[in-house]
Amino acid sequence: MCGIIGYVGKEKKSLHVLMSGLKNLEYRGYDSAGIALKDKENITIIKAQGKIAKLENKLKNVKNTHLGIGHTRWATHGEATEINAHPHEMENITIVHNGIIENYEKIKRQLIKEGYKFKSETDTEVACALFNKIYKEEQDKLKTLKKVNTILRGSYAFGILFKDDDRLYAMRKDSPLIIGLGKDENYIASDVPAILEFTNKYILLDKNEYAVLDKENICIYNDNLEKIDKKINTYEGSKEVAMKNGYDHFMIKEINEETTVFDNLLNQFDMSSIEALTKSMPKLKKYEKIDIVGCGSAYHAGLVGKSIIEEYVNIPVNVKIASEYRYNKNFNDKKTLTILISQSGETADTLAALRKTKEKGFDTLAIINTVGSSIAREADNVLYIKAGPEISVATTKAYSAQILMLILIALVMGYSSNNISKTKSESILKDIKMLSESIKRTLNKENECKKIAKKLYKANDIFYIGRSIDYSLCMEGSLKLKEISYIHSESYAAGELKHGTISLIEKNTPVVAIVTDETIEEKTISNIKEVKARGANVTLITTDKILKKYKTSDFYDQCITINSKEITTSIHIATILQLTAYHVANFKGLDIDKPRNLAKSVTVE
Ligand code: GLU
Repeated sequence: MCGIIGYVGKEKKSLHVLMSGLKNLEYRGYDSAGIALKDKENITIIKAQGKIAKLENKLKNVKNTHLGIGHTRWATHGEATEINAHPHEMENITIVHNGIIENYEKIKRQLIKEGYKFKSETDTEVACALFNKIYKEEQDKLKTLKKVNTILRGSYAFGILFKDDDRLYAMRKDSPLIIGLGKDENYIASDVPAILEFTNKYILLDKNEYAVLDKENICIYNDNLEKIDKKINTYEGSKEVAMKNGYDHFMIKEINEETTVFDNLLNQFDMSSIEALTKSMPKLKKYEKIDIVGCGSAYHAGLVGKSIIEEYVNIPVNVKIASEYRYNKNFNDKKTLTILISQSGETADTLAALRKTKEKGFDTLAIINTVGSSIAREADNVLYIKAGPEISVATTKAYSAQILMLILIALVMGYSSNNISKTKSESILKDIKMLSESIKRTLNKENECKKIAKKLYKANDIFYIGRSIDYSLCMEGSLKLKEISYIHSESYAAGELKHGTISLIEKNTPVVAIVTDETIEEKTISNIKEVKARGANVTLITTDKILKKYKTSDFYDQCITINSKEITTSIHIATILQLTAYHVANFKGLDIDKPRNLAKSVTVE
């Protein structure tokens, strides 16, 4: 969370770079934003509560310079006020920070005793004062950075300006930071798309590394303060992907990108035969149990994956929330594969779960979108979903691509463990290859989703019900709706409703029922009839095939059907749920891409 940007280079360019970077980073947090511009000995700080546009309004008479840092905040310590906004300054030092300083209270108490005074409630200002104190003692900038790193606990990346220096400093522990390379100018940023307008060449700063940048040089030091050479990477994605291209919101653009995303994901493998696919994937044969770990939608993708893997591979799959998993007792062994799912590859809890598993010496496989991210680099194996930048805070294309990757894993494991025959595997593979084409049919149902959304958007509470894999899809449908429309909603295993929750159903309570699992469809439909009998207004989401079997329509009020190959049905349903949630929020006129209180990549615990 939080976005950091920094620039050193040409005269009068920093303002443009910082603001362009902040706009691209805004999906990481938008409680407040601020910049610091350095000109000779003077550092000017401008901050505003709320979105970047508010900061922009304050910049009319600001003198542009060649050096500066900027920040867009997702508050962890202290309210979203202007005072708490970054950058923070303390005498000689000005900093921006991404992360949490866990021991800030203790440090603050000590610094107050030593005479320091604080304006904000943030942990960041305490870190800033600490930099200042240590710099006074050490009189050496690199040594200061290192010493501060030994004192602070928690997760952090910092961009730092010293009043008496014309260079840009940076350091990181557990929060991501990249260094961008330009001609006669250099950058720091929380992610690469933030600087793509200016350069696609970048260096990944690793944990406990320090960087000193001027317009011509980039010096990187390890934790012993030895200068090190780092690989220069080239970002392959285009910057257009990070633009709205005529769509009203990133969310709807990203849903519509699903066709190309699925192609990009599949094209990285040899899809010509099941054997070829198996060879182009990591070796997955030896496992007897799988743990899937993720947060939010990634966790929900894992639940969908569980149903598919258990069916095709016939081994137990546990799906765990990363923030729980990292502190739970671990009963795994060498025959367990832990799959970590994270769009950003920086999700703090998922990263911690990965490290915990690795410490025990058990195998890990990451399903990630952002190339070169921390989880991607630290896992034993990584599979990239190739979804491209996802700007909308509510994930759509990345969630769907995570499911697709889990389907491939199920197929390869099922085939290599002889649980699915060669003929069946080849036929499933053929169905998977048709996904990009067939998803277009589902995307064409946008108007139908809009009609359903019109019926839902005034509701106060909405229930999503389904069984087995459909229940997992309900969980994501419900989350998607609440995160962007602020309508309270719950997902329930359809059979569980009568054990309490059905008391909430009254006349016209909206219930969205998902029915795609043919093995249990009759049971779910009975549950739908139970809510219908109590006055619920039911939206049925099902397949053409299932609907055809039912001669009466007395158990639903409106219905959307999809036509898909069985293995990819969950992905089609996900698209319907995404389109519906989008239009509900759109009818309510909400800020769909930046829902309140949220941020895209959750780099704090
Ligand atoms: N802890 C800092 C603050 O609250 C930074 C937050 C973050 O990176 O999410 O301002």
